[in-house]
Amino acid sequence: MSQDWSQLREKLATRLAPSMAKDHPNLPVVKEEGCYYYGVDGRKYLDFTSGIAVTNVGHRHPKVVEAIKEAADSLTHGPIGVIQYESILRLADELAEVLPGDLDCFFFANSGTEAIEGALKLAKFVTKRPYVVSFTGCFHGRTQGALSVSTSKSKYRKFLQPNGLTYQIPYFNPYDPRILDESGIVVEAKAIDLLEEDFTKLFKYHVSPEEVAAIILEPVLGEGGYIIPPASWLKKIREICDRHQMLLIFDEVQTGFGRTGEWFAAQTFGVTPDIMAIAKGIASGLPLSATVANHTLMQQWPLGSHGTTFGGNPIACSAALATVEVMKEEHLLDNAKVVGAFARERLDEMKKQYEMIGSVRSVGLMIGIEIINEKTNKADGEAVLRILDLALKEGVLFYLCGNEGEVIRMIPPLSVTKQQVDEGLNMLEKAIV
Ligand code: PLP
Repeated sequence: MSQDWSQLREKLATRLAPSMAKDHPNLPVVKEEGCYYYGVDGRKYLDFTSGIAVTNVGHRHPKVVEAIKEAADSLTHGPIGVIQYESILRLADELAEVLPGDLDCFFFANSGTEAIEGALKLAKFVTKRPYVVSFTGCFHGRTQGALSVSTSKSKYRKFLQPNGLTYQIPYFNPYDPRILDESGIVVEAKAIDLLEEDFTKLFKYHVSPEEVAAIILEPVLGEGGYIIPPASWLKKIREICDRHQMLLIFDEVQTGFGRTGEWFAAQTFGVTPDIMAIAKGIASGLPLSATVANHTLMQQWPLGSHGTTFGGNPIACSAALATVEVMKEEHLLDNAKVVGAFARERLDEMKKQYEMIGSVRSVGLMIGIEIINEKTNKADGEAVLRILDLALKEGVLFYLCGNEGEVIRMIPPLSVTKQQVDEGLNMLEKAIV
């Protein structure tokens, strides 16, 4: 590590808020390209985080970089509404093509959290109902509204949640994939019964369905530990929403843009929500997000009730247009399925060999490796921290998730090759042994 860098890092420690200055692991980099980060130490690191599900087409894809440069040459900022530009309109049109059902109308913002805030406001405006139901373990962002529907890493969040806006329903322990793996369909059926039971209790003792504007969920639990529900569970929730005229909001901030092997998890599970929040992978690293609904619903959101200065920035929209194009041209959805299945096979083999791997859960290239203590069988967040550090020394960057940080999250760019997955998993294996 260079002297300059060490000095800068010292300063950084005091200039940035703690939650910005250090996470785990903490890799100082100078460059990114394809599936790699290049460290200040001169080494090349395989990136199995995609900048937390953002650089799905690979870091600094040449087409995306070109689109950014071209856009910057003509327009860097455009408070939409006040001025108009082509890229935002073309992007809305392109996205409408790849989104499920009739989701075809967009409010563009800058971050996942903002897209969620928009979704919550839209649901309440349209239904004129006060409550939103969410699930324990879910994560929807860090602003007050988004926090009010989130519980993952609740150690801190519980101090911040405004009361009275939300009721959380347990994200069903029967979903524990270790049980699901072993007894399959039986447990799935039980989970559905419990879901119905929980909603009956909710409506009997807490709020009536007429007071609930929406149910919000991540179709695959992300920060909460990569838990994949059966499609029937999501279908049941769709049914409950329809029965009571509540809106269904999918938070596809993390699952969107090919991560699950389809454009969106909604397509993977065959369930279309009324409102969707999309972000992260949309613009390959430039800040962009959207609250999406169908045209009729969106028209009921009164003008002036929501707004943005930076949302739908023209450079970000151009980057997003290039991202969509690359996804199609390079058949990245197919690659996510094929390479995802390859990684899953290898990890299932590793699970047989190493008792500390409690379960492997995956859909496409959204992969969680749960680490447990071999003696107690309990989630082992400490071991994950150790493994992440060792894996980084070997040359591969992973990140973690789960309420106790017990899950190694593997989300490489969707352009990753089998060979790169092989290399990265060999490094992980060395770190586990
Ligand atoms: N929703 C989900 C499912 C997420 O995973 C995240 C971020 O990790 C967010 C919302 C918040 O997005 P952002 O950090 O862009 O505000």
